[in-house]
Amino acid sequence: MKLFDLKGGVHPEGKKDLSAERHIRALPLPKKLYVPLQQHIGAPATPVVNVGDKVLKGQLIASAQGAVSSSIHAPTSGTIVALGDHVAPHPSGLPVPTITLESDGEDRWGMTKVVDDPLALAPEDIAAHVAAAGIVGLGGATFPSALKLNLSRGSGVQTLIMNGGECEPYLTCDDRIMRERAVEIVEGIRLIAHAVAAKEVLVGIEDNKPEAIAAMQEAAQGTAIKVVAMPSMYPMGSEKQIIQVLTGKEVPAGGRPADIGVLVHNVATAFAVQQAIRYGKPLISRIVTVSGGAILQPCNLEVLIGTPVQELIEFSGGYRQPAARLVLGGPMMGQQFTNTNVPVVKGTSGVLALMASEIGQAEASPCIRCSTCVRACPVGLLPLEMAAHIRTADLAGAAALGLKDCIACGSCSYVCPAHIPLVHFFNYAKGDLAAQERSKLKQEATKKLADARNERLARIERERAEAAAKRKAAREAKAAKEAAAKAAEEAA
Ligand code: SF4
Ligand code: SF4
Repeated sequence: MKLFDLKGGVHPEGKKDLSAERHIRALPLPKKLYVPLQQHIGAPATPVVNVGDKVLKGQLIASAQGAVSSSIHAPTSGTIVALGDHVAPHPSGLPVPTITLESDGEDRWGMTKVVDDPLALAPEDIAAHVAAAGIVGLGGATFPSALKLNLSRGSGVQTLIMNGGECEPYLTCDDRIMRERAVEIVEGIRLIAHAVAAKEVLVGIEDNKPEAIAAMQEAAQGTAIKVVAMPSMYPMGSEKQIIQVLTGKEVPAGGRPADIGVLVHNVATAFAVQQAIRYGKPLISRIVTVSGGAILQPCNLEVLIGTPVQELIEFSGGYRQPAARLVLGGPMMGQQFTNTNVPVVKGTSGVLALMASEIGQAEASPCIRCSTCVRACPVGLLPLEMAAHIRTADLAGAAALGLKDCIACGSCSYVCPAHIPLVHFFNYAKGDLAAQERSKLKQEATKKLADARNERLARIERERAEAAAKRKAAREAKAAKEAAAKAAEEAA
């Protein structure tokens, strides 16, 4: 199959060999699970349980609120022991509302609804099952999957792309799930394709995962699914980049893949969809890579949502030496953290403990205008120019250069010989820009409300004046009539 060129991109050292040959193992049942209400893009879920309630594995414990939200289920059986704040992998770094569940050690499932022939379901029923199971994009975006299916069904999908890129260094969880659960993933892909009536289905996998490619090709035999090996390059696994490489189409600036008839889902999401629909199992666990030079035994673990990261590190043999940096996700786009009590959430693909030698900690020096960052940017932006605008607090100037299209891949920072943390500038500026826009929207909404109120008061005043004028005219007409009658009477 013809592949198209990816603009920019970099080749960071993969380091996948640390964990790629480690079979997925289940982490032993933790004593306590900390399940945040916000693990997805959109509104946090609302608890439907109280402290002291006994719950079964897979039981709904918090329900989705509004159109963009996702439900949350009990990862095991036990007792709800707290509804309150707990440290979480949240960008704010602040504790977030969390349900704490104490395991009873029995890991007993509640009622699960098995569907014998899932492909016979109507497309909207597939989306409904996916919504009920609380499935979100497991590649890291955590967008509610059912909403993505419903939006795509409405707009017509030409090509469904299943993302098996996993281009972030160190991460091997998608590689392992494709090697070990390819049959289930293929069934999940067929269900997603059926739900959106996709005309073409492509599975894109980087060519540094030959075993995963072979497993997926074998599982896809006899179906219309095409498994495609893509060149290994970062950020091949980003949504817009995988679309560009596999279809040659570009998602318009500020647009969505659906605008060009494409839908992208992650391969692990396909597995979750299959488990939800065939076996009635909601999303209560995921595969997590535990790796980095500071970890004694890097591995891939199946982990219940809500498990403290400390338990993953201990199960992996603990530290070989003190970690210089802890990261959730991959080293390029992941989130640094320090408190190992943070729980695994639906979007946690990796827990990395990196040594000082694995992270560039060189001091930043002034830009030498070499334009290496421009060549590396997969979106075609001008990182050095955007950073110059941000340095002078000119966010509008940075936005005019395409700041909002920056996917925060970090390729520019990675190649910068002056070690300028460009992506940090962009993340900070995007946060500021979003806050400014929110404040502008709020001001506009307030002005609209004030205008509407003034208009309403003016209308009431106008109606009052008109009514008074009418009454006065009626009074005057009556008086004139009476005067005329009196005059007539006198004349007679
Ligand atoms: S790569 Fe770094 S030094 Fe070179 S132009 Fe970009 S910001 Fe400047
Ligand atoms: S972080 Fe943004 S500006 Fe830098 S290379 Fe990635 S997309 Fe381009």
